[in-house]
Amino acid sequence: MPSIFTHKFDTATYKGPVAVNTGLFINNKFVDGSDKTTIDLINPYTGQIITKISEGTAKDVDIAVEAAEKAYNTAWGLKAPGAARSKCLNKLAALMEEAAEEIAALETLCNGGSYLVNKGWSVPFAADIIKYYAGWADKIHGQVVETDERKLNYTRHEPIGVVVRWQSTVIMFAMKIGPALAAGNTIVLKPSEMTPLSALRVCMMVEEAGFPPGVLNVVTGYGTTVGAAISSHMKIDKVAFTGSTAVGRKIMEAAARSNLKNVTLELGGKSPNIIFNDADLDQAVKWAAHGIFFNQGQVCFAGSRIYVQSGIYDEFLAKFTERTKMNKLGDPFSADVYQGPQISPIQADRIMDYVNSGKEQGAKVHLGGERQEGNFVTPTIFTETKPNMKIVQEEIFGPVSVVIKFEDRDATDVVRQANDTIYGLAAAVFTQNLTQAIEVGHALKAGTIWVNCYNELSPGMPFGGYKQSGLGRELGSYALEHYVNVKAMHVNLAIKTE
Ligand code: NAD
Repeated sequence: MPSIFTHKFDTATYKGPVAVNTGLFINNKFVDGSDKTTIDLINPYTGQIITKISEGTAKDVDIAVEAAEKAYNTAWGLKAPGAARSKCLNKLAALMEEAAEEIAALETLCNGGSYLVNKGWSVPFAADIIKYYAGWADKIHGQVVETDERKLNYTRHEPIGVVVRWQSTVIMFAMKIGPALAAGNTIVLKPSEMTPLSALRVCMMVEEAGFPPGVLNVVTGYGTTVGAAISSHMKIDKVAFTGSTAVGRKIMEAAARSNLKNVTLELGGKSPNIIFNDADLDQAVKWAAHGIFFNQGQVCFAGSRIYVQSGIYDEFLAKFTERTKMNKLGDPFSADVYQGPQISPIQADRIMDYVNSGKEQGAKVHLGGERQEGNFVTPTIFTETKPNMKIVQEEIFGPVSVVIKFEDRDATDVVRQANDTIYGLAAAVFTQNLTQAIEVGHALKAGTIWVNCYNELSPGMPFGGYKQSGLGRELGSYALEHYVNVKAMHVNLAIKTE
């Protein structure tokens, strides 16, 4: 039997207990992995082992898929009306809200992000996403297409079947399960091997929320074993992956080689943030800092390339630097800490490799660029960069920004530079000239454009990438389209007279 991780938090911001089952979750039960091996979870702030979780294998993926297939055919899929699916999703969201502090604490323990942000924003937003899709569950339907008096033509939007989703945070968990379950699919979910506890805590609510066994299954484990088994599985009809572009490519290749499963990908980014002379400077500084330094810079849509028009460049840089210096690093459970540790020593090393490459290629470290004990990288501002430098082109996934001066009045050149990476996840424009904001927003090749703000998301607004930032969309009604098969029904009403 898998064990239960219990812990009594005694931090500045959370003092309650937590209890979470650390097994695989299949058929509404926690079970050991078939090899009975485990994975150590490491606290990124202390470096200590938090607990052990079950390590799933390819065999466990088979077992979970079998459970999901059975649930799809007997209790969910076309067997559960939309209203019933809606009720389960709404109940799950309510249970998540009740346990918000515990889920947030588990999230912070594993990923080092601020507890207060997780409690005040991540968990409530995750619950909102699930409620949003609960609202859709009984409104997913096809169309009647008028063609000919002797024919009845209509479409049905049927769930796809067993789908698989990858997840690393509680928000992604909600983004992944919401539309898939609302549309009637059953799920096998693979959380990140570093941050699975919030997902496992939510699994403890699944039965109480009313989901039949097998509808939502979670297999924890490594990407090279569980992940690879999923992407090449013959009975999985769809995969939705969130992670790096390099792994996204592997998943697509495996899908192509196996059963041509439907794939959606939410991948990396190198998002540009363009600030014009006429922007409200203080607001631009505030949002730009939030855009790159939020969550230790470990955000796929982080605004890591900041283009500032020459008329305000010096003033912007001075204020941006001053603000960045105020970002306090430390224990993510402290109320005044803005930046916690990077997720792992490997990730902190990776970021430092980029910092060093920036220096070697001739960029100037204007602020930060240091590794500190406890997986910290100080918030970093590079200036004097060149467009082809690695720190300008590649995703760093850390608190590292490049601030680039641009001159052109009509924005053609800055838009060209902004579009000049392999990515296209998000972008922002700061100006008080609405016409310019819209023109530039339309010219930028990115799936999300923010005007005079950054990092804003809404359950109803689609999110996803252009170019190598991904395929398909999360959130909004757009996400639902990835979870239904459209069936065209041609009924001949004149069979007796023809
Ligand atoms: P990663 O690609 O290293 O890992 C993601 C997942 O892939 C993990 O769960 C891992 O177990 C699995 N994996 C690894 N190798 C695999 C394989 N061969 N087959 C199948 N699965 C495999 O990414 P990460 O470090 O977890 O996250 C950082 C990346 O994710 C960044 O590039 C970031 O931009 C991106 N991201 C994108 C979004 C988005 O919505 N676009 C959101 C968050 C993160």
